[in-house]
Amino acid sequence: MINFTVGPVMSSEEVLCIGSGQVPYFRTGDFSKIMFENEELIKKFAHAEKDAKTVFITGSGTASMEAVIMNVFSKKDKLLIINGGSFGKRFVELCEIYNIPYTEIVLETGKALKQEMIDKYNGKNYTGFLVNMHETSTGVLYNINMISQFCRKNNIFLVVDAISSFLADEFDMSKLGVGVMITSSQKALACPPGVSIIVLSCEAVKRIENRNIKCMYFNLKNALINAKRGQTPFTPAVQILLQINRRLKEIDSAGGVIQEICRVGNLAKDFRCKIQNLPFKIISESLSNAVTPLHPLTASAYDIFLELEKTYKIWICPNGGELKDKIFRVGHIGNLTVDDNNKLIWAFNDMKSRGLI
Ligand SMILES: *Cc1c(COP(=O)(O)O)cnc(C)c1O
Repeated sequence: MINFTVGPVMSSEEVLCIGSGQVPYFRTGDFSKIMFENEELIKKFAHAEKDAKTVFITGSGTASMEAVIMNVFSKKDKLLIINGGSFGKRFVELCEIYNIPYTEIVLETGKALKQEMIDKYNGKNYTGFLVNMHETSTGVLYNINMISQFCRKNNIFLVVDAISSFLADEFDMSKLGVGVMITSSQKALACPPGVSIIVLSCEAVKRIENRNIKCMYFNLKNALINAKRGQTPFTPAVQILLQINRRLKEIDSAGGVIQEICRVGNLAKDFRCKIQNLPFKIISESLSNAVTPLHPLTASAYDIFLELEKTYKIWICPNGGELKDKIFRVGHIGNLTVDDNNKLIWAFNDMKSRGLI
């Protein structure tokens, strides 16, 4: 199978190889060293401030989203949430669960966030802002510079779910004044699912240290204490952390984060160029390098997904709910090449000649 979904995605041979070995014992100096390397490289690629801290959670991206909401905010906060699809909605649901007051800005499918939509919340005493930098469900990349300026002006603590944009789109945590950044192993990091990563600015660390939350597994204060010695409070997904280490070093030695973003961006450009004669419409006003969201004009999006899987051994990413027949997405993250793009385009053209699209 060739996998063009948005996670899990394809891994390099080297990363796969680590996954096939025995799992080493982890309360050791050698494993701590790996964890310190992971922290430093994640911070470097996120452009985090020098004293920022990184926490590795064994759990998918949502686990880290939940941990951040629990540990950073309380009933005394008042949050603004951008809800442009299923991941924005997830932040809304978390605030409901933890009784954190919020206002949501709901966007229509595929629409970009505009200045006037946030400007009306100027000077209204909001304390936090939650945004999925790239709303993966609809393929919309938000203008993070605009959001950052709004937060600076209003002294609002900014949390960015960069799960699908980290290593795919430019992101500079310190320049943007981001308080917390979240990412996950199975997106552009191209490792198996199971580990998510939280980068905490100094201000975020202070917020966490000043609170006493009632939770064992997602207690970030405890995680931070353990991270000082390169460890986690509980048994982590050891192998995935080793795979992350390999992948981060691969990116570093291939030229770093800028080079990687460029590589993903070129794959996306190549694909978008080659679909011009196919009966598809790009539905996002503001694209990420990670994904191309497409509306097929002549067939059901879900039927296209099924046919590609069955006949061509290719996975694209279907949508759920009311978008199931309207939208499918083609990912550009993971260990993909222009040659893989060509195979997908060939399959689309073959479907066209068979009258399926
Ligand atoms: C993938 C993703 C998540 C996390 O989903 P999990 O299934 O919990 O890993 C969260 N936010 C965004 C924007 C994502 O793309």
